[in-house]
Amino acid sequence: MPELPEVETVARGLERRALGRRIAKVEVSHASVIVGSAEEFANTVSGRVISALRRKGKALGLELRSEDGASTRFLLVRLGMTGQFVVRASAAPLENHTHVRLVLDDGRDEIRYRDVRRFGRLRCCTAEELDAVFATLGPDAPEIREEEFSAALRGRRGAIKSWLINQRVLAGLGNIYADEALYAARIHPLTQAGRLSSQAARKLLRSIKRVLARALNFGGTSFRDYLGADGEPGEFLEKLNVYQRTGERCRRCQAKIRRIVIAGRSSHFCPRCQPRPRRPALMHSPRVPTPHLVRD
Ligand SMILES: [Zn+2]
Repeated sequence: MPELPEVETVARGLERRALGRRIAKVEVSHASVIVGSAEEFANTVSGRVISALRRKGKALGLELRSEDGASTRFLLVRLGMTGQFVVRASAAPLENHTHVRLVLDDGRDEIRYRDVRRFGRLRCCTAEELDAVFATLGPDAPEIREEEFSAALRGRRGAIKSWLINQRVLAGLGNIYADEALYAARIHPLTQAGRLSSQAARKLLRSIKRVLARALNFGGTSFRDYLGADGEPGEFLEKLNVYQRTGERCRRCQAKIRRIVIAGRSSHFCPRCQPRPRRPALMHSPRVPTPHLVRD
């Protein structure tokens, strides 16, 4: 699932390849990925120029100006689990699961929205509506300040892992980078968020920022579906230390990486580098009643 480094990679790719270009034509072949009427979406988006890009957490907003500059709309892109937003030559063969095509300029290139599982969404909205969506998200992870981060942790009894992937408190982290940041900071995923010492909280925030910046340098992580706007997969996969490395050796201490399920989401960690706290958070949330420990 694309997280902040992957969405930022898409934004940067679009900046290189699509910024300043006009969306000449819109073709929607699967209306369920569009929020609202697909016809209205196509009518509003076509004829506009991509004039800027905005991102917060995993949400991406393309600013679309009318050609006379009088009206601005935004195309809000949420990639969901398997969404791809890629600039391709229009002559390139159309991959299956391509649901929307934004044909650029004279028709030689187009942006294709492809999404196998169709959890992603495209929405055309006003600046106010985009701001309202962004306002539901916590601070963007690379931007959050130390005091803000520590204040948000205070009093939280849930597992730090669940806290980190809650977009309302911190925007941009999903399962991959939350696991990687906790490993880097040597914090067990079941540690109660509010019980982190101020030193541990500082270390965690530094680890989050470092992991995200590094992943961005490698163009993000591709398991199967994620691609940057150039159509290239990310190369961070082989750099991962714990995520999806269950049973493999810790690169620091050689212990076997473990996987546990916390509130329905898997967490990967090194049992030696990230010792279990004396008073861990509950592993389950009320909605997910049957947690289980998976041993290797
Ligand atoms: Zn280790």
